Amino acid sequence: MKRRKFLQSSAAAMGATLPLPLWSPGFRFPHQDIDVDAVTGDGREITLGGAPIKELDSRMRGRVLLADNDGYDEARRVLNPSFDKYPALIARVTGTADVRLAVDFAREHRLLTAVKCGGHSASGKSTCDKGLLIDLSGFRGVRVDPSGRRAWVTGGSLLGRLDHEAMAYDLVTPMGTVSHTGVGGLVTGGGFGRVARKFGLAIDNLTSADVVTADGEFRRASPDRHPELYWGIRGGGGNFGIVTSFEFQLHQMQRQVTGGAIFFPIESARDVLTMYADYGREAPDELALDLLVVLPPGGAPGMVGFGVCYCGDPSGAESVLAPVRQVGTPMIDAIEPMDYVALQRSGDTDDPRARASYLKSGFVPEVSSGLITAIVDGVEGHPNRSTIMFIQHSGGAIGRVGAGDTAFPHRDAFGNLGLGVDWAFGDDPSEHVAWIKEVWTRIEPHTQGFYVNDGDPDAYENDTVTNNYRTNYRRLVEVKNTYDPTNLFRLNANVEPTV
Ligand code: FAD
Repeated sequence: MKRRKFLQSSAAAMGATLPLPLWSPGFRFPHQDIDVDAVTGDGREITLGGAPIKELDSRMRGRVLLADNDGYDEARRVLNPSFDKYPALIARVTGTADVRLAVDFAREHRLLTAVKCGGHSASGKSTCDKGLLIDLSGFRGVRVDPSGRRAWVTGGSLLGRLDHEAMAYDLVTPMGTVSHTGVGGLVTGGGFGRVARKFGLAIDNLTSADVVTADGEFRRASPDRHPELYWGIRGGGGNFGIVTSFEFQLHQMQRQVTGGAIFFPIESARDVLTMYADYGREAPDELALDLLVVLPPGGAPGMVGFGVCYCGDPSGAESVLAPVRQVGTPMIDAIEPMDYVALQRSGDTDDPRARASYLKSGFVPEVSSGLITAIVDGVEGHPNRSTIMFIQHSGGAIGRVGAGDTAFPHRDAFGNLGLGVDWAFGDDPSEHVAWIKEVWTRIEPHTQGFYVNDGDPDAYENDTVTNNYRTNYRRLVEVKNTYDPTNLFRLNANVEPTV
């Protein structure tokens, strides 16, 4: 047997990708013909033949990974290790051509299909058991045109890269607050962040997108081309296809903002929340005040305060922040002039997959006296875990967009409230999940709908999705009927087709 052929067949026999020296001939070792147990979107057990899997792998530039392949375990993981799932196969795509091949394969075999970008999904819908996981994490890139104030971001990118590239020219577009979050999930769901009150949600700055829809076709979605698809992907999540490229408008903004955090003793919670109820409405668009309530385990003293970003003229920062500072005597005042990109990275974790977590969330129309009492009297700390409650500040430019202008209808919200607990992976989660659900019963009556990107695993049951999209739901169904009539993309806040 010739050496090349021997290597190829032994690698195939091992079902593995061998590390090759740089000077190796440019061929790849094919998969063996191994049948794989899988599941369809509607839950039927099927057997996928080895031959079509092998063919998909050979046509892709990226790789198809089966359970015993190198890289499978890394590729199947998402941020929250509670979602410990085992797809039948993973398509690690590297570009639009691969995405089209993977979507065609999924549709032809009617496979349960998950799409992963940054893997931050709170509902765990970006992975699945026994389906096909289309993993976009090898498809990352950002291009900025400073003179045209535009950025193009590939579908698997993380937002920190966009912040970094754009800020090199004192340009910005609103993204989330943790830089290892995926642009793919964040933007299709809405996209709140530190400069959203000034410039709108991420979707309000999306000028066009390239989408591979369920039929495997490539479509450019913009106000002029596939306008209904363009409308739907701005808030309708991953329901209609896989966005392979996002085009954003960028805004001029100085690199140095005033940001950080300020905390008061938990005993000041009522005063802090009362100030927030008023000032959160009146504050200039340049100020984002994200409420933070931190309750350490075992009844240890808690803190209430804000994550702050003021992106206006630095000389005005002191007066804009005065109402916040004057509400009490802070335990910590770490608000200072700082680099915007550094602020965007300040919430990153070194080992983001180390902790399992559970989050309940809902939009609050206002910080009413009822909500204040519910928080002050009703949110106690978990007996042996830290509890975090936040309200991500909305309003400003976010609220000046019409509820039907994009698929995201919650323009009237004061903010997005979340209540979460985390624990070391491996602990029994049931106690923690039950505990958060119990505390949430006191907060939920003060919420209206929820942010699809923060929905917990139960959030998409029954009529909640229909109601949550409010009057936009019917139009979303029409978009779904056109672009995904068989509901290939169902692992999301699912809009069910009616055709
Ligand atoms: P993934 O888990 O990879 O994907 C989630 C879903 O998005 C997938 O199931 C799929 O349906 C869809 N999807 C992903 N990529 C694509 C694509 N290219 N095309 C079409 N559909 C796609 N949200 C905010 O708005 N602001 C914040 O500041 C913010 N901060 C967060 C901080 C942390 C630590 C976490 C965990 C979440 C945060 N979120 C925030 C919520 C965040 O928007 C969602 O978790 C979002 O789904 C993350 O996107 P992802 O690509 O990382 O997720």
